[in-house]
Amino acid sequence: MITSHPPPELLLEHASGRLAPAVALVIATHLEFCQTCQTSAAEMEILGGLLLESQPPADVSDGLLASTLAKLDRQEAIQRQQAAPVHKGTIPRHVAPRTLTPLVGRAYEHLTWNRVVDGVEEARLPLADRGHRVTLLRARRGSRFPFHDHAGNEYLAVLEGGFCCSDRPFVKGDFASCGPSESHGLTMDTHDECLCLLVLDGPLLFPAAEDAALNAVFRL
Ligand SMILES: [Zn+2]
Repeated sequence: MITSHPPPELLLEHASGRLAPAVALVIATHLEFCQTCQTSAAEMEILGGLLLESQPPADVSDGLLASTLAKLDRQEAIQRQQAAPVHKGTIPRHVAPRTLTPLVGRAYEHLTWNRVVDGVEEARLPLADRGHRVTLLRARRGSRFPFHDHAGNEYLAVLEGGFCCSDRPFVKGDFASCGPSESHGLTMDTHDECLCLLVLDGPLLFPAAEDAALNAVFRL
């Protein structure tokens, strides 16, 4: 059961379209799993619409109107693409959420996976959002993601399986975030495999000497 949700201010920023695309991707992915946050986000969108309606009308130039309509057309095209069914060329062990389908393609297995530490691999996703690292992490049971600090913010959505952080379990659909000056390590001992969407807007910092090589990996 999902027990970890984005804070209301992040949902509000998402509803008003103010988040960076990479961070919005994590929130949208959590929303795909979480009925509770879907309801909150819908209420926020209605509230945002009412606030806009209460503003005095502004003069809209023809150019602005045309560019706004073009933007809406593009958004519709993106939404149609996101709603497309998952490719059926191979039978993936796991099916990607709709939010990730355009980035993952046919199956998670077709991405390029690079070893991080024993039992943990990372695959970068082709989302162009300057200043953000957008990846998938997958980990086998019994592995651990080493203890680290954060130079920026970390946003995470659990896609499959789960992990423990400071004895707290996170499972499929859960959202997690961490900011500068917060530190943690993750252990994977509750499921056979754990798959997460991870977005960073600053490097991870690994203080232990045996993990020092990872400082060169987890830059943006
Ligand atoms: Zn939620």
